[in-house]
Amino acid sequence: MTFTPTKFDTLLVANRGEIACRVMRTARRMGLKTVAVYSDADATARHVREADEAVRLGPAAARESYLSVDAVIEAAQRTGTGAIHPGYGFLSENGTFVKALEQAGITFVGPPASAIAAMGDKSAAKARMANAGVPLVPGYHGDDQGDALLRSEADKIGYPVMLKASAGGGGKGMRVVESGEGFQAALDGCRRESKAAFGDDRMLIEKYLVQPRHVEVQVFCDRYGNGVYLFERDCSVQRRHQKVIEEAPAPGMTTELRAAMGDAAVRAAQEIGYVGAGTVEFLLDADGSFYFMEMNTRLQVEHPVTEMITGQDLVEWQLRVAMGEPLPCRQDELTITGHSFEARIYAEDPEQDFLPATGLLTRFALDLEGAGLGADQVRLDSGVESGDTVSMHYDPMLAKLIVHGVDRDAALATLNRALAALDVQGVVTNRAFLQRLANHPGFKNVELDTRFIERNEATLF
Ligand code: ADP
Repeated sequence: MTFTPTKFDTLLVANRGEIACRVMRTARRMGLKTVAVYSDADATARHVREADEAVRLGPAAARESYLSVDAVIEAAQRTGTGAIHPGYGFLSENGTFVKALEQAGITFVGPPASAIAAMGDKSAAKARMANAGVPLVPGYHGDDQGDALLRSEADKIGYPVMLKASAGGGGKGMRVVESGEGFQAALDGCRRESKAAFGDDRMLIEKYLVQPRHVEVQVFCDRYGNGVYLFERDCSVQRRHQKVIEEAPAPGMTTELRAAMGDAAVRAAQEIGYVGAGTVEFLLDADGSFYFMEMNTRLQVEHPVTEMITGQDLVEWQLRVAMGEPLPCRQDELTITGHSFEARIYAEDPEQDFLPATGLLTRFALDLEGAGLGADQVRLDSGVESGDTVSMHYDPMLAKLIVHGVDRDAALATLNRALAALDVQGVVTNRAFLQRLANHPGFKNVELDTRFIERNEATLF
């Protein structure tokens, strides 16, 4: 690969909301000029107010604004931008976008298009990971897709199994099959769903783990073959496969398991020539076995909990790697201090099946002093301020409340106080639901697995 490191002094953030604000904060600290982009619905949004310069992309519909490759590249060219940070979602894992940037001579703050492609297809990714010696959930991810063969593979794996669309994502095209009798109907249904959502009906089959934890490893690679892991996050608390509260480090990890998962994650990244920030997701079984699930080739929503326990700024790492610098430190220079939680504050109504909420946010404030909390204990990554309007056009996440404590109990107590100190008026949020979760005895006792919310419905709703 020929690569000429280019320093840049202007960064365009091709995103909105809290992540656009968060990326620009570090960019400013590093002396970079910041450019925001916006749709008509966001003309006066916080990320626009905070940028040095802002460019309109198009109408409110994401397809015509934040998802428009042409509009984003044009905005970059118009402002003399040297690099683009994609945030998460939108164009962050779009190989076409990355290739278009290469041609336009603009630096993409993220991995090469080839690495995104390698992880984009679940079956192909699993084949690559098997090669690299990364443990996989027992299962079938082959090319032969005949009904009879899939059925016999499922029988061999043993029920329950999970059918997954190879091209799937976002929790779609997945089905649990309890026994052989239900297999054909589930296969037909899953294929239909997958064809409709992804235009592709190839399936893979996995052993269905009954009570796994979702534990993911933060990795970082530079352009010179160096790779490190910044430990793990436990994201087991999910509602419909969507994360609600995340924490780092994962409770109950031994030094050996942490090193084994970290090494496997770095191997996974290096196998595909990865560069930048990435996350390797694993399912962790009760017996301590862990299995590769997928790799997210972007900065994750929950990256702040890793920053809190390592004292590193992951966006600064991303920008330095994009400028062609080597990783800022070696594996043995990274350590874990204390414990961190993140709670996602959504404009949604838990009383109405989590229906997204909109309106004028008359107040959005966190009274740390009143709660007796210090600025070193609590961080609010927000895309909004009092007086902003929450529209229906995009993801309803308003902010992330992140806390740090000397250990898990201390951090959890701080999370509860910080949630209570958050004053939101004018728009319904999930705050009360988060408080019930954070106060739940099962959560305090680390009874964690991906069905925690489902299992505790009676006491959480
Ligand atoms: P997507 O790409 O659609 O997000 P994933 O493969 O990442 O799908 O799986 C999403 C979630 O589904 C996981 O976090 C986990 O809760 C559950 N899951 C996936 N595979 C299995 C499995 N083999 N056994 C049990 N649960 C699983």
